[in-house]
Amino acid sequence: MSLHDLHMARRTLLASGLAVTAVGAVGIPASAAQRATAAPSISTTSDWEARDPSSSVDVLDSKPNKIIVHHTATPNSDDTSQSHAFALCRSIQNYHMDSNGWLDTGQNFTNSRGGHLMEGRHKSLNALEGGSQHVLGAHAGEQNSVALGIENEGTYTEASVPSALWNALVELCSYMISQYGIDASAIYGHRDYMSTACPGDVLYQRLPELRTEVALATAQSEPVTPAVWPLLTPEARGPRVTAAQLLLRSHGGRVPVNGVFDVDTRRAAQVFLDAHRPHRVECSATRTPERDLFGGTAWTSLAPVLSERATGDAVRAAQAVLTSRGHHASGEDGFGARTVDAVRRFQARQGLPTTGVVDHPTWQRLLG
Ligand SMILES: [Zn+2]
Repeated sequence: MSLHDLHMARRTLLASGLAVTAVGAVGIPASAAQRATAAPSISTTSDWEARDPSSSVDVLDSKPNKIIVHHTATPNSDDTSQSHAFALCRSIQNYHMDSNGWLDTGQNFTNSRGGHLMEGRHKSLNALEGGSQHVLGAHAGEQNSVALGIENEGTYTEASVPSALWNALVELCSYMISQYGIDASAIYGHRDYMSTACPGDVLYQRLPELRTEVALATAQSEPVTPAVWPLLTPEARGPRVTAAQLLLRSHGGRVPVNGVFDVDTRRAAQVFLDAHRPHRVECSATRTPERDLFGGTAWTSLAPVLSERATGDAVRAAQAVLTSRGHHASGEDGFGARTVDAVRRFQARQGLPTTGVVDHPTWQRLLG
């Protein structure tokens, strides 16, 4: 649904006299609408009877710049009660403290399938209400210091997202964005940063819609879809897998170049992830490690910045994806004039600076 469609839907709702919780309604100036974005009802850690943290929670004197959406990878419960939601929070906290050895719940906030919003890590709600501080969580590796983490109850690899959960997620994200002045485009999925399936294909594919609804609720202009790295899943096929295989070889990995994310390639990808520790963090709520995926910012370690006169398998990787995107560059031995030309033409088509250098934004679009 486009922003315009949402505006029309909202106008219809208003005309019919139904309550509209999200602000940003037609006719309200943007600045007034942003100030007016209502705080949703969020239960505190004492409401759900959290344990005390095992050591002091870090409260940073800086604002977060993005929101990262997760799913808990727990069962898709039909129990929409608040007591069930509170029990979920206690269960996650126990798991994070006792199994992971963390000082408290990893994520900043939790959202249940019944749409009950709850504080996750202690002090997160206070920080959000103040709008100038951020509680350091444990949910997305290197992003923790700048990213708010929301765990959404359930597993959304195939199941659809309950409307109560969705509406609460829109409300919470809208409030976060208006409190901290974050751009609605800066709502991401966990997989955009780490090698994880989180928040599941179904919820992940709804992130553009989430950005649009939040932009509407906070009177922002239509958000853009951010450039992100692809996630390779078992038996995935195609040029991006061929590129990954050549890149793994350039790092010494012993893998075939057959364009299939097969068992040998997955093993080599895990060796690479294990050697690059910041990328090797499990989803904060997932019970079982996901050791057969490759994605997120691990690509930034795998794919080097390439320019003219570079040689080797990394150059072959870039040439393979360029060729697959219709900019023929294969067959040239090393990064020569033909490859520079292909990179420039690709960059021009993508609206990128035409440097002829395969930098990370160029890699993202080549692999996307
Ligand atoms: Zn996650």
